[in-house]
Amino acid sequence: MKMELILQEKLHRLYEENSDIMMRLGNFLEPEFEGIIDAFYTELTEIPEIASILKNMFVQKNLKASLQKWMHDFFQPRISENMKSLIDLQKKIGALHAHNNVNMNYFTHGISIMKREIFSRISNKFVSANDFSRAFLLVGQQFDILVSIISEAYYSNEMIHETNELSLKMKGMTQNTAIECERLRSLLLDWMRNTLTFLYQTPEIELSKLPKLQYSSFGLWVIYKADLLSHTLNISAELKKYIQQIDEALFTAAKYRAENNQQKFFEGVTALNDVVSKGSWFISTIVDQAIEIDTGMDMLTRLFNRRYLDTILRRQTDISIKQKIPYSILMLDIDHFKKVNDIHGHDSGDAVLKQFSELLLLNVRASDFIFRYGGEEFLAVLGNTDGKGAYIVAEKIRRKCEEHIFQLPANKQISKTCSIGVAVYDGHPDYNRIVKFADMALYEAKEKGRNQVVVKNEIIAAP
Ligand code: GH3
Ligand code: MG
Ligand code: MG
Repeated sequence: MKMELILQEKLHRLYEENSDIMMRLGNFLEPEFEGIIDAFYTELTEIPEIASILKNMFVQKNLKASLQKWMHDFFQPRISENMKSLIDLQKKIGALHAHNNVNMNYFTHGISIMKREIFSRISNKFVSANDFSRAFLLVGQQFDILVSIISEAYYSNEMIHETNELSLKMKGMTQNTAIECERLRSLLLDWMRNTLTFLYQTPEIELSKLPKLQYSSFGLWVIYKADLLSHTLNISAELKKYIQQIDEALFTAAKYRAENNQQKFFEGVTALNDVVSKGSWFISTIVDQAIEIDTGMDMLTRLFNRRYLDTILRRQTDISIKQKIPYSILMLDIDHFKKVNDIHGHDSGDAVLKQFSELLLLNVRASDFIFRYGGEEFLAVLGNTDGKGAYIVAEKIRRKCEEHIFQLPANKQISKTCSIGVAVYDGHPDYNRIVKFADMALYEAKEKGRNQVVVKNEIIAAP
């Protein structure tokens, strides 16, 4: 709104101070409008992508008449009451272009053609060089203002359009995903049951005739439907990887069975079971991932996911600048986390992640934000906290983690440590820098042997 008033004021002044020139320009150009529009049309239709849109618009939407009116209005001396109507018209034009999906680059190209045609037609109309340069400047400024109103309207409409489309996609997706994933999991488990029967009960196994997962109903589902589920999550590529691993494990087990190598055969079946469980675990995470995209919340840990990190950091930076208070970031990573998955299974890994998240929430202030940054990586934004304060918080978390006994399913217990990188906001408006520096500090903590805190709080030199 504020910007709009500024533009309105600017336009008003422009027309007021130049009403004499404006009148003359209008008179010179009125008979030329048709020629200007013809030049505009001819040149733009030489570009194939524009030609079809433009032809359509010229025929159906009477673009020629609209353009003529637009130019006519452009050169009318104005009083402030109808300045608003001029602005409203530009807004409508922007919204219309967004609605019709006309690329803004084409639009600005069209405007530059018009400008050039107008300049070439007025160059010999003014006797005084002073008048000519005033007219030249005036037309340029006027175009700039109107185009900035048009493009602002264009982009805000474009944004509304995109957001709506996206949320619509998500709604449908989350509902279907839950049903589809359940079906997918049962297809995989059915296949596993039948395959085990096949492996144990077929008298003579022929390696060329294995019931590969790739050719099963599960495999077909992946080919035909996985891409429909979500483009963002890349489910299809991940599932194909599992299919390949599972079929390889099946082949190995079957080979030992055919060779009558009992011991190796059992090991092969165990390995097959393992990859199938991993695949099944992956499928069970798809729904959570879909909800996550939908809500910005990480379903496993109930923390924010990265989706809102930018927004929060922008706010935090804004508050810091305005109120002159610092803020800090902790980047935390569980040490040797992969081992938990490898030794105890993914469910145990998930349990550790949940407990670690709770531990984080318990040891920061209510006004702080915690994000699940990646798999076993977390990011904490600590408001009104300088390097010293952040170090104390980080060190407390590190110690609490070291002392914590993580409860795993089936009544097992383990200990884990974590490494933490700390960075302090240094007044630079680009908040990505602080994340980068916290990440560097974390890397240093890992390098130095893990289970420790590294602070990067020296004033960081500009890049
Ligand atoms: P480092 O000390 O260097 O950090 O070693 P690391 O093993 O912790 O780190 P690395 O990055 O090699 O391994 C992280 C693992 O976390 C790999 C991935 O399989 C696992 N992971 C990521 N997300 C999840 C999850 O949601 N659940 C479970 N169970 N595991 C996850
Ligand atoms: Mg780790
Ligand atoms: Mg990591």
